[in-house]
Amino acid sequence: MNIERMTIETAREQVARKQTTATALAESFYKRIEAEDSRIGAYLALSRERAFAKASEIDRLVADGAPLPALAGVPVGIKDVLMTKDIVTTAGSKILKNFKAPYDCTAVARLERAGAVILGKLNCDEFAMGSSNENSGYHPVHNPHDLTRVPGGSSGGSAASVAAGMAVATLGSDTGGSIRQPAAFCGVVGLMPTYGRVSRYGLIAFASSLDHIGPFTHTVKDAAIMLGVIAGRDPLDSTSADVPVPDYVAEVGRPVKGMKIGVPDEYFAEGLDSEVRAAVEKSIDDLRAAGCEIVRITLPSTKYAIPTYYIVATAEASSNLARFDGVRYAYRAEGAATLSEMYRRSRDEGFGAEVKRRILLGTYALSAGYYDAYYLKAQRVRTLLAREFETAFAQVDAILTPTTPTPAFKLGEKTNNPLEMYLNDIFTVTADLVGIPGISVPCGKTRAGLPIGVQLLGKHFDEGTLFRVASAVEHAAS
Ligand code: GLN
Repeated sequence: MNIERMTIETAREQVARKQTTATALAESFYKRIEAEDSRIGAYLALSRERAFAKASEIDRLVADGAPLPALAGVPVGIKDVLMTKDIVTTAGSKILKNFKAPYDCTAVARLERAGAVILGKLNCDEFAMGSSNENSGYHPVHNPHDLTRVPGGSSGGSAASVAAGMAVATLGSDTGGSIRQPAAFCGVVGLMPTYGRVSRYGLIAFASSLDHIGPFTHTVKDAAIMLGVIAGRDPLDSTSADVPVPDYVAEVGRPVKGMKIGVPDEYFAEGLDSEVRAAVEKSIDDLRAAGCEIVRITLPSTKYAIPTYYIVATAEASSNLARFDGVRYAYRAEGAATLSEMYRRSRDEGFGAEVKRRILLGTYALSAGYYDAYYLKAQRVRTLLAREFETAFAQVDAILTPTTPTPAFKLGEKTNNPLEMYLNDIFTVTADLVGIPGISVPCGKTRAGLPIGVQLLGKHFDEGTLFRVASAVEHAAS
């Protein structure tokens, strides 16, 4: 059985047609993880007991001839910022080492209810803060296409595990690009749904006005299947929208003739790697050949997106991370003489350097006297960005850009220069600030064999159009 590029459909079909069992399938994936993951480092924990319990439940359904749910027997992995009941959930942080989640994240529960088999928890940057997975409190993840390179971040384990055939699909989170950027670096599909489309109940919060949960898959169709399962209102998350969930799979492969695709000048400026540019331009040509009208557009405030993001995200992070105080749960420093020493030392010993940097930046941006100059200003720019996208979407159905300015960089290349690391998010942060959906689709490789991703951005709650256009790009690129 070849599981390396196994899709959801194939996995489900093989189980349904009794060509394999859900149990045997899970075993094959665990074998592959054992063989491959010592080089890659994608998994932080395996949840064998839970996986095999679910797999035998599916096998009983098959034996009984009962109807099978959408993800019956499909082996999946979960980014470690998503809570999984009774399974260690660390958010990639030492401060949550050995923390067993008391309940399931809604997205995880929905996957499992649809028959998915949860293989384990995936490595990520600590509290999802990073672009390379090098900020994990445990160990870095290596890019399966070149082990000397990063897989991207913060959902590096979620992208690398799919790319290396160690899961059929995974969940990740995207606050400033953490699904789309690692998807591009690892050569898989990564979808960030509209803000509110997927419940964040049980997601360990980084920046609540920017956090999204979404899938990594081999194909656009699989991404559509995954979104169909996890999307929709959840009474446990008041920010989840009460908007009907359409049939996303029906959009995959629909003709794109006559659709208008916007290409913003600002995303093709200086600093864009020449091979990335060539691959993305080839996708534009492919869409034109498929009958799309390509429209040049302009998003002039793009240059403010990085500073705006790094103020809003750090401000919200400084507030969200206040709950890790050593009192209620998580790491507590031993032997402190006073309460404030206990707070201070627990946080100092438990958090890594990048998390501390963000807490300091965010606290500063929110402090009296600087609030108006930074936080309020950033919120105003956010409104400006949203207006520019509104104007653009009055003319076009979707917007096409490169996902990242370069292919995957080397491990260690940017660790001493946070600003350079932050600049890698230049094409992804805006969609989070505006709340619109985005997808990254593989569109080619560099001469050295590194994957390149093209990004499609859509209107609020219009993931359907993204799937339609993304499947055309995928078809032309394969
Ligand atoms: N790389 C960005 C950051 O470091 C985005 C992270 C994310 O989307 N979680 O904040």
